[in-house]
Amino acid sequence: MSTAPFNYTRPKTLDEALALLTAHGGNAKLLAGGHSLIPAMKLRLAQPKMLLDITRLEALRRIEERDGRLVIGALATHAEIAANRTVASRCPLLAEVAASIGDLQVRNRGTIGGSIVHADPAADWPAAILALDAELEIAGRMRRRMEAAGDFFMDIFETSVEPDEILCEIRVPVPAGPGAYVKTAQKASGFALCGVAAVVDAKARRVRVAVTGVAAVPYRATGVEEALAGKPLTAETIAAAARHAAADITPLGDIHASAEYRAHLAEVNTTLALQRAAAR
Ligand SMILES: Cc1cc2nc3c(=O)[nH]c(=O)nc-3n(C[C@H](O)[C@H](O)[C@H](O)COP(=O)(O)OP(=O)(O)OC[C@H]3O[C@@H](n4cnc5c(N)ncnc54)[C@H](O)[C@@H]3O)c2cc1C
Repeated sequence: MSTAPFNYTRPKTLDEALALLTAHGGNAKLLAGGHSLIPAMKLRLAQPKMLLDITRLEALRRIEERDGRLVIGALATHAEIAANRTVASRCPLLAEVAASIGDLQVRNRGTIGGSIVHADPAADWPAAILALDAELEIAGRMRRRMEAAGDFFMDIFETSVEPDEILCEIRVPVPAGPGAYVKTAQKASGFALCGVAAVVDAKARRVRVAVTGVAAVPYRATGVEEALAGKPLTAETIAAAARHAAADITPLGDIHASAEYRAHLAEVNTTLALQRAAAR
């Protein structure tokens, strides 16, 4: 399949990209790694008249520690995050998630920002940024705003980013406490049938657990978190809490996995993720 005809330009600055987005209304799309957008265009599910290639906006590619936060530019690729030393020392959970995405080619082109804004219900990043209580910086022509990860994912393939806005940064508080990501992957693509990210805050005696791939929208497993609040993490307490991993959600069912299987995976992967995070 080929795409519908489109124009292409490469803005040199964030301001220029924002001005072009506004000028073209809903007819323009940002091009980051292209690993979700181009397939959608080939299937004619997306037919932008103008592609704005933002891949050379270096300011959106930085990974650094700033004001007690690990700041990851939206254009950082999965491979760059997996290999980054600051990420490895300050928040290894992010490196673990990055390394689990697709294959080398996908990791070399795909970006964290593109993945988060695309909001595929089976994408890996949403679980991590929810469990880490990340904040997202979003720029529009007239203002920049911060959005909590918990308010960002609205629906399947839908986030709070408006068509004339650009996601700039993902900010993760550090230290986050030890974490772990456990995914059951769809064999061909690597996308998550169920991915669970867990973070253990030993000092506060609480955990944060987030699940992707199971429901239309990634979610915090608050039932699990509440069941473990103030409790020691033992095999018994973890197993009992993990039973709440798919409570109050409607699991997705499709040709890859039934709803019942996904709900089951949520419990199993929550148990494993919490055990691994606690052991770290
Ligand atoms: C074979 C294959 C296997 C894959 N396996 C996995 C996997 O195992 N796990 C996983 O999570 N993902 C997987 N992916 C998806 C991959 O991670 C994509 O790279 C990612 O979903 C989209 O990122 P991108 O940079 O390619 O974005 P693009 O495709 O360029 O853009 C996606 C959407 O986001 C918008 N956008 C991009 N950047 C911004 C920004 N900064 N601000 C606002 N809007 C923006 C675009 O306009 C577009 O609408 C796979 C993809 C393929 C092709």
